[in-house]
Amino acid sequence: MKLEVERLTAEPTPFSYEEDGGWWTARMPREASLPREVVEPFCVTGVAYRSGGSDDFLLEGTITGAFELECARCLARYRHRLREPFRFVLEPAGLRTPAEPEAAKALAREGMCLADEVELGWYRGSEIQLDSVCLELISLALPVKPLCRDDCAGLCPSCGADRNESPCTCSEAAPNSPFAVLATLRGDRS
Ligand SMILES: [Zn+2]
Ligand SMILES: [Zn+2]
Repeated sequence: MKLEVERLTAEPTPFSYEEDGGWWTARMPREASLPREVVEPFCVTGVAYRSGGSDDFLLEGTITGAFELECARCLARYRHRLREPFRFVLEPAGLRTPAEPEAAKALAREGMCLADEVELGWYRGSEIQLDSVCLELISLALPVKPLCRDDCAGLCPSCGADRNESPCTCSEAAPNSPFAVLATLRGDRS
């Protein structure tokens, strides 16, 4: 995912990249508990342009893709689609060195890194690689608690039956449980 910075003007230049699961598994940190089952390639599309005659430039676009994840409530495997918009400003790093060792490495290796905020980054040289920033954006977009659907009924804590498929006989047993209260609240809202 290479972008030639030198060629950018004030006119938005479109870019588009596609990467498959191999790209993800080869680059993600080994120790991280991130999902590995990429079931749709990642597409990174957007535009890049210089802002107001300066050396700063803007990148904006969207990352899409899909993982197979396990639902935190019913434990079913399901296809989780990502659609993550992004927008950040890159300014010349000049003589500055990022305090974060990871960011300093990225700046040296890929010609860009993100600053403390995700919306701002630095670049150095005539071309940049977008791989690391895309990996980071995808990681941040992954849900902490994946759900196969917002109203997934989950498994019965008593008998283990999947309540999405059929209500079990013990489903009314604990009307005072926190889950029952939550279910009521949800019902009220919809
Ligand atoms: Zn579920
Ligand atoms: Zn049950």
